[in-house]
Amino acid sequence: MFPRINIFLDRISSNIRKLQEVLSPVEIMGVTKGVCGDPYIAREMVNNGIRYLGDSRIQNIKRMRAKGIDARIFQIRSPQLSEIRETVKYADGAFVSELKIVKALSEKSREIGKKFAIIVMVELGDLREGVLPRDMPVFIKEAIGYGANIVGIGTNLGCFGGVIPTREKMENLLGVRDKIESMGIKLEIVSGGATDTISLFENGKIQGINQLRIGEAILIGHDTTGNRKIDYLRQDTFTIEAEIIELKEKPSMPYGIIGRDAFGNIPHHVDRGIRKRAILALGRQDIDFEYLIPLEKGVEILGGSSDHMVVDVTDSKNVYEIGDVMSFYPLYPSLLKSMCSSHVKKRYVKGS
Ligand SMILES: *Cc1c(COP(=O)(O)O)cnc(C)c1O
Repeated sequence: MFPRINIFLDRISSNIRKLQEVLSPVEIMGVTKGVCGDPYIAREMVNNGIRYLGDSRIQNIKRMRAKGIDARIFQIRSPQLSEIRETVKYADGAFVSELKIVKALSEKSREIGKKFAIIVMVELGDLREGVLPRDMPVFIKEAIGYGANIVGIGTNLGCFGGVIPTREKMENLLGVRDKIESMGIKLEIVSGGATDTISLFENGKIQGINQLRIGEAILIGHDTTGNRKIDYLRQDTFTIEAEIIELKEKPSMPYGIIGRDAFGNIPHHVDRGIRKRAILALGRQDIDFEYLIPLEKGVEILGGSSDHMVVDVTDSKNVYEIGDVMSFYPLYPSLLKSMCSSHVKKRYVKGS
């Protein structure tokens, strides 16, 4: 059955071990949100010695728990007030940036008698989540007043504002740590960032930053914010397969009166004469066309709609037939969609 995603567990494992080698002694929190909390991939992380897992969504965390993943799992996107009970029940901790949420988490953990760890996010310029450094002392004081178990601080760059992590940003974070510790609170965890922060640590450590939260690098060996393929990691960790349902020579220019495409965009096409095109049973519902790399040379993705992908195969040396299967490497957005889609079959491969 297709579409199908092949998941090469040993290759993912090899990325985990390589990153541990490069980043040691900084501890890796394995981030599973890019694969929808896939328990087999989480298991691979745990078996390689990863002690902390992170996921943004409580549903993914529940999914891992249901399959017996017993590592310490943190919810890395702030829990919603409407899910506090589940967060405290299934996670061991959360990254937060609002006192109301700290209060709710602390009350619930007291109520059900479970120790629950809080890591407070610090805003350092990317302008996604985080408490402003100058507001930190008051925030911490109030949080302690609610009985919160504050174990650390963290920051996230590169995601919303595209701000590049630098040594200076890490020093700002350490400055915030010092200020909090001067209030008599010991912070066990200083969480410096995500995949985009790895490059900072490749040529020397930054004393005091002791955790990075890594998803993309483990999963596909890429760093999107840094715009690089991480050369010591594997990128062939997943392949998406889709089946050809139409194969014809057609003009490359649509004909008739041109309006918008199925998603409201104005299509742009280049006239390259008659071309050989395949239609695959794969669409935006499963992947993003812009974030898919054909394995075969001479194959070009032209686009498509919810359930069809149009591919130009004129320059390919392969002879295709209806029913043949073509393979693609997913980049992060396509990985996310396909792993979270119930329409894409999952196939786990052990051994290379
Ligand atoms: C997604 C996310 C990560 C992991 O990011 P990658 O780029 O996949 O390594 C880390 N921290 C937070 C807060 C996140 O939301």
